[in-house]
Amino acid sequence: MENTQTGDVKMPITYEDLKQSLVDSGRPYDFDMIDRAYALAEKAHGGQRRRSGEPYICHPLSVASILVELGMDSESIAAALMHDVAEDTPVTVAEIKQKFGPDVALLVDGVTKLTQIKFSNVEDRQAENLRKMLLAMSQDVRVMIIKLCDRLHNMRTGDAWPEQKRRDKALETMEVYAPIAHRLGMQRIKWELEDLSLKYLDPIGYDEIVSKLDAKRQEYEDFMRRTQDQIDQRLNDLNIQHIVYGRMKHPYSIYWKMFNQNKSLDEIFDLFAFRVIVNTVGDCYNVLGVIHDLYKPILGRFKDYIGTPKPNGYQ
Ligand code: MN
Repeated sequence: MENTQTGDVKMPITYEDLKQSLVDSGRPYDFDMIDRAYALAEKAHGGQRRRSGEPYICHPLSVASILVELGMDSESIAAALMHDVAEDTPVTVAEIKQKFGPDVALLVDGVTKLTQIKFSNVEDRQAENLRKMLLAMSQDVRVMIIKLCDRLHNMRTGDAWPEQKRRDKALETMEVYAPIAHRLGMQRIKWELEDLSLKYLDPIGYDEIVSKLDAKRQEYEDFMRRTQDQIDQRLNDLNIQHIVYGRMKHPYSIYWKMFNQNKSLDEIFDLFAFRVIVNTVGDCYNVLGVIHDLYKPILGRFKDYIGTPKPNGYQ
């Protein structure tokens, strides 16, 4: 879709783009409510601009669009569009409650309160903040999901921040928000938050890993496809119903391993991972047999969490 022009500033995302993604999702969104939320936010933010120069409304639009990708509901999308109005404009939560009902108002209020929490490294204050944060989350977990998407978009566009703010935000993202994303099972969000944090905290280290990965991108992708096809084919031949996923380690996790275990990129053995999902425990062991026949296991590195679950119950 074409980007529209507002004066001399190119809009990276428009309301039309967001609506298109809502339609494309095939989910039954409440367009009347979302239209009204956008209209309110657009009017409230008016001529405000982001540090990068683009109209402020692009930020809530982007946050809403990440939430659509995550499959979130109409209330979340409406709240995302209005998530900064209570903080940055004369519009109040009471007004939102009156126009959109208590659910959307609670979400906007929760995100606003989370935004106001300043995390410091002083431990007792941190405990108090953590308490507030858990409280906000326990009322409605959507508050935290919206906040994570808000932080993700801010981190994606953080290049415009001054150096110190970049570092502060990156540290807070790494220490507070990425672990929460992990706990909520939002792995892709967690990875991206970690990678963006690393980019701001150690730009040289980050660039080194990314440029090395980029140089081998084609080789890696071929390897992933080849391996996935091999597994797929063998399991099809054996009539085992399955799904195979492949993933590559992301820069932060590579960085951590290189740094922590003093390894070079070539010495990292789990750069790639494949996950095979099957219907029964029996099939799981059947697949294991197939995999060990296809690829040689490394002695002493093999773990069976079905037979011996982790102490935390992971099986
Ligand atoms: Mn925001």
